[in-house]
Amino acid sequence: MMITSRKLQPQLLKIGGLALIVVVAGAAGAVGLAAFWLNPPADDLSKLFVYLLTSGGLSVCLVMFWLIFSRRQVGLRAQLSVAYLVGSIITIVNVVVTGGLMFLSVHDQNLLMLLLLFSASISVFFAFFLSEQLGRQVRELTRGASEIAAGKLDTRVAAGGSQELAQLAQAFNMMAVKLEQSAQDRQEMEQSRKELVAAISHDLRTPLASLRLMTEAVSDGVADEQQTAIFLERMSNEVQYMTGLIEDLFELSQLDAGALKLSPERASLSDLISDTLESLKAQATRKRQNLQGQIEGELPELLFDPRKIQRVLNNLVGNAIRYTPEGGTIQLGAQQMGRWVCVSVRDNGEGIIQADINSIFEPFYRGERSRGRESGGAGLGLAIARKLVEAHGGKIWVQSQEGQGSTFTFELPVN
Ligand code: ADP
Repeated sequence: MMITSRKLQPQLLKIGGLALIVVVAGAAGAVGLAAFWLNPPADDLSKLFVYLLTSGGLSVCLVMFWLIFSRRQVGLRAQLSVAYLVGSIITIVNVVVTGGLMFLSVHDQNLLMLLLLFSASISVFFAFFLSEQLGRQVRELTRGASEIAAGKLDTRVAAGGSQELAQLAQAFNMMAVKLEQSAQDRQEMEQSRKELVAAISHDLRTPLASLRLMTEAVSDGVADEQQTAIFLERMSNEVQYMTGLIEDLFELSQLDAGALKLSPERASLSDLISDTLESLKAQATRKRQNLQGQIEGELPELLFDPRKIQRVLNNLVGNAIRYTPEGGTIQLGAQQMGRWVCVSVRDNGEGIIQADINSIFEPFYRGERSRGRESGGAGLGLAIARKLVEAHGGKIWVQSQEGQGSTFTFELPVN
């Protein structure tokens, strides 16, 4: 309360000062007009000037007192109604006294009084209802703010009343929508963080448990020479898997944090596609798959980070090999389409079930069919591919028919 009144004081002093200037100017103007229209004796004019100054000054003091008093304690309806009432009383007193000074007849003066009383009661009546409407809207906003403060972020207020209050209510509702949205985002982020931690722990726990068992078997002498050799090879595979997982996680976290720096250079995508076909040929041949490449027309040189796009191609073709049965066909193609170069990896493998399609680019998401499988990765390959393509200003998507195969496509801008 003290802070509020202290803050108000300079403002009220300014209003009071301005009001006094208006009173002096108004009194001078009124005396000037009276001299012009009524031509009274100079003595009457000076009496009128003194009276107007006194009554105006007293009115200002009364209103100032009222402003200080009402801002602190009284509601909007009482504040406005009393302000109108005070204004009307001051007007009546002024008119009666100045009327007396100007020698109006008692009859005229009473008639004037009646008219003034009538207009004063109408004003107070309107002030009462107007402030009631204002008060209702303010109470509505107060309710909304209290509910938001109590955590009910779906609260909205009705936008009625005057234009300014309706705008305020709209702004309030927009603020509530934003608050609700950001609370929801925070909740989703928290949820995905929990899922990520659970997925990482799960993916590390399994190989670590098998490593522990194998090392115990070797160190306890339970395993013979042949078994030891098999265990050592498996241990090396597990260590390789965990190293790959940690590297993928590190890359994904850097991409998420925007900390991964691309090293773009003008290079040929055709060369990159040939390199990918070359390096993954052996893997496809082992599954007796037909790995083909097809580039339509001449591809323009693009500005991109060849190592990162190579990574995307490896992930997509590696997946196609993994999820296509023996004897299947994998086609890696590229073509320019206007301001974009589209690269697609098509396979005639198992395809992706509809329920998985929207989630396969999420970190640690493994399709329904690959979850229980030994050969599956950690579910980071497509998440990394998407982030890398997006970091180049491109897009990546998939089309798939269950049992018939999948086509992964990404496009990069021609720049
Ligand atoms: P993973 O390491 O499991 O392969 P990815 O992020 O590369 O992780 O892929 C996520 C999931 O998308 C896979 O588990 C698999 O179910 C599905 N998937 C990816 N590529 C293909 C494909 N060519 N054919 C069928 N399913 C695929």
